[in-house]
Amino acid sequence: MESQIFKKEKMQKNLKEAIRNDLLDVYYQPKINLDSETLMGVEALLRWNDDELGTILPIEFINLAEETGIIIDLGRYVLRKVCKQIKTWEESGVEYRNVAVNLSAKQFKDVHLPEYIGQILNEYGVSPDVLELEITESAVIENTDLSNNMISKIIKKGIKIAIDDFGTGYSSYIQLSNLSLNTLKINKSFIDFINCDNKKNLIIKNIIEFAHILDMKVVAEGVEQEQQMITLKEYGCDIIQGFYYSKPLSAKNFEEYIILKGYGGK
Ligand code: C2E
Ligand code: MG
Ligand code: MG
Repeated sequence: MESQIFKKEKMQKNLKEAIRNDLLDVYYQPKINLDSETLMGVEALLRWNDDELGTILPIEFINLAEETGIIIDLGRYVLRKVCKQIKTWEESGVEYRNVAVNLSAKQFKDVHLPEYIGQILNEYGVSPDVLELEITESAVIENTDLSNNMISKIIKKGIKIAIDDFGTGYSSYIQLSNLSLNTLKINKSFIDFINCDNKKNLIIKNIIEFAHILDMKVVAEGVEQEQQMITLKEYGCDIIQGFYYSKPLSAKNFEEYIILKGYGGK
């Protein structure tokens, strides 16, 4: 118990220092269009390797950052790092298409969010249309009036919004149909059951059809097997993200990956 508290305190202190000294990495996982087999964009995913504590999984330090309020600084830090990377890719002609950045529930509730995103985009001269923000289903439905307000402010800036981890929260189709979202990401926990369970297959097919009715693009998360990809293609899923195509990559490895795959590059 005591050592758990000690570890948590140490992690909190080291995380603050890591943000201050720019010691975190952002990895980029490709998203591939199922029809054209072309790159549609990437998802930015934080990586932290601490000298004392070793590799810490995002789920662990993001939760801690949420609990302690560090998430606001961490969120701004990630956006800055991503915008800096986008600028570098733009200058060297790397065809990354667009970058999706995750927002936690607390960030999404921060009234200053639209303003500081605008400032960071300006600071780096990045166009809003290459940025997508991913918000989890549970954060969006916590308060749909507030969400609607925040989503329209962000969309007005020209930034896209995706609902992340769809299938893990308790949103209703009615609630979702009242929100202006661009993308729906089906959670890996559903994808894992493709072709194991006919009912789950039908649910996935239904989610894809529902998203299309609302003009949303569908991304399937955590696709690892060819057979999953084939079934998702048959159901009309638009985009695939998963180890079947690629794990999250460092910026340098991503640049090599798109050249190797012929997706465009320098
Ligand atoms: P997420 O946004 O749902 O990201 C997808 C997660 O699934 C990533 O885990 C990714 O590495 C993993 N993944 C993708 N394809 C596959 C696959 O085929 N198989 C398996 N087993 N896993 C796959 P990761 O990088 O560990 O991130 C976990 C979560 O941490 C993210 O889930 C997101 O909620 C959060 N996170 C990561 N970076 C950030 C960030 O910058 N800000 C915030 N607020 N949250 C972040
Ligand atoms: Mg995500
Ligand atoms: Mg997800």
